[in-house]
Amino acid sequence: MITEQAMDAATITSWMREIETSVRSERDYLVQLDAAIGDGDHGTNMVRGFEAVVQALDGEAAAPPGRLLILAGRTLVSTVGGASGPLWGSALRSGGRVLGDQPTFEGGQLVEVLAAALASVKDLGAAVVGDKTMVDALEPAVDTLRTELAASAPLATALGEAAEAAETGMRATVPLQARKGRASYLGERSIGHQDPGATSTALIIRALQRAVSAAG
Ligand code: ADP
Ligand code: MG
Repeated sequence: MITEQAMDAATITSWMREIETSVRSERDYLVQLDAAIGDGDHGTNMVRGFEAVVQALDGEAAAPPGRLLILAGRTLVSTVGGASGPLWGSALRSGGRVLGDQPTFEGGQLVEVLAAALASVKDLGAAVVGDKTMVDALEPAVDTLRTELAASAPLATALGEAAEAAETGMRATVPLQARKGRASYLGERSIGHQDPGATSTALIIRALQRAVSAAG
């Protein structure tokens, strides 16, 4: 029986760094996806936002993990002009509030962090699964993580499954017609393209898996 490792501030810092690396290497792809059904800024938005997050977190190593998430969220809101800034910004702030000032957290609480993040995206953006948004990747990831952990899967395995669920949800946005955000202005012409926000969300969940696995 392996004892599940606790996560801490370093897990959050490492998650944010992994996101920054990942959106930077996929920037052009995210730009292309957004150019097809939006205004072509999603890749640059995400890179600008998470570069600022990594900078903001630098030197905050002593802060508790919840505080780091709140700071990350605030930084996204203030640096990203597109829809994804306020959406991911409020998501990370809500997630951070779940942890309060506690120094460490376990898998069960990570589910609650992500569930709060999802709830806040849905509150702010009023999107549901099938609207062709980041919710199409985030909701299945949260559901899968919860189910896997409830079935006693090790955290790293559960996160791997969650990342796959996000990627499946991301691919499932292709045949959908967008009902929220800029892409919805295109009506039926949004069909046949993968949603950029669902794509970066899948990268964000994959980054979380890497951050947690590297620490284990
Ligand atoms: P903008 O659309 O303002 O240019 P971005 O290009 O950075 O912002 O982000 C676009 C992504 O934001 C979309 O692909 C979609 O996934 C997500 N999005 C837009 N509106 C909403 C919404 N109301 N709810 C959830 N996600 C949304
Ligand atoms: Mg855009």
